[in-house]
Amino acid sequence: MGNGNKAQMKRERNAKAGTEAKSQLKINVASKTIQCKTCFQTFMCTSKAPELTLHASNKHDKTLPECFPDFKESDVKTDKPNAKANGKK
Ligand SMILES: [Zn+2]
Repeated sequence: MGNGNKAQMKRERNAKAGTEAKSQLKINVASKTIQCKTCFQTFMCTSKAPELTLHASNKHDKTLPECFPDFKESDVKTDKPNAKANGKK
């Protein structure tokens, strides 16, 4: 009598464990990238502002906030004068 019930419980438990592990992995992957809003290229979240600025200016002739509006670098001040942009006429 109770044999079939036990087997079903075991199956349910296995299924649950599997989906939890998968959804956690998905969250980790999503939080690890920064995406360019212009060309949708993705970068590691460990990318630094100079890298992203280089991509924005070389590929799109834009600034970092224009291509990566969600990017925030907490430990770098962004109020530097834009010295390099004045090089050419
Ligand atoms: Zn881009």
